[in-house]
Amino acid sequence: MAPLRHLLSIEDLGGAAGIEEVLRLTDSFVEVSERAIPRVPALRGKTVASLFYEDSTRTRLSFEAAAKRLSADTMSFSVSSSSVKKGESLRDTALTIEAMGVDAIVVRHSSSGAPQRVASWVGASVVNAGDGWHEHPTQALLDLYTIRQRLGGLDGRHIAVVGDVKHSRVARSDVLAFTALGATVTLVAPGTLLPPDLTGWPVETSHDLDAVLPNVDVVYLLRMQRERMTEALVPSLREYTARFGLTVRRAGRLADGAIVMHPGPMNRGVEIAPEVADLPASTIVDQVRNGVAVRMAVLYLLLGAGTDRVPTTDALALDPEEPLRRPAEVDA
Ligand code: ASP
Repeated sequence: MAPLRHLLSIEDLGGAAGIEEVLRLTDSFVEVSERAIPRVPALRGKTVASLFYEDSTRTRLSFEAAAKRLSADTMSFSVSSSSVKKGESLRDTALTIEAMGVDAIVVRHSSSGAPQRVASWVGASVVNAGDGWHEHPTQALLDLYTIRQRLGGLDGRHIAVVGDVKHSRVARSDVLAFTALGATVTLVAPGTLLPPDLTGWPVETSHDLDAVLPNVDVVYLLRMQRERMTEALVPSLREYTARFGLTVRRAGRLADGAIVMHPGPMNRGVEIAPEVADLPASTIVDQVRNGVAVRMAVLYLLLGAGTDRVPTTDALALDPEEPLRRPAEVDA
């Protein structure tokens, strides 16, 4: 893979080889995350700012945890307490943050293409943390990592992506990522929740979840994106659940070993039954856990790797400024 300047789309990784490289690097950072002190000096002296114009729990905390575990400094911007409230534009806000000396800006925005615009204005690396209906590349990478961890690989796997595909940036990035690594994807949704034009999407479609479930290795449920819907696209949430929700009865149709995924936040009782979310087949907590290591890998590739993609022993060494163990742990 050519040196990575920004991560705006899964396509920036240049296909299967680049994606595999991020997944391999993630293995190193999973190992770091399991240490008693999960912190390494890899990005000491670098600063990572998060610029979030939309709500987030997982993605924001996970990028901040990733940056801190790499010993980078972090800066956090939140629209509700910033000068955006006074009318400051995205461009001026990005330039202001850059003027404070940042190396990477992690951007979430409700407009598709906003991270790309920021990348055209600043010298720092930009990571797309979700833009409108467009893409959410680090979500796709953590999904891939989780599937690989649970099922051993993507090649030849069949994945059903179920629900509000039309408004889902996760679906776009996931379809690109899953198919790049050799999986087959079936989108399962009512016609109103599929994109009107699927030309160029390497997918099958179905409106019959019950028929698809026994044949898949992964069922990936999407949240109903009510904040992005401008019209009533389903008669009611109850009817949506009746046809497309992963109820306990439907989960019983899954093949042995199949897994259930969801990017969060879940609408328990809408796209997924509460009991199903907590089954051993559900990977939802693993996805969140893997998200930190995947984002460490992405930040490392952008800011720390140079031409050497394998983290040096120094980069992964215990942080020399950290005490090795707290005294209580040494005594224990
Ligand atoms: N957290 C994901 C996103 O930001 C999925 C979702 O919100 O449904 O796109």
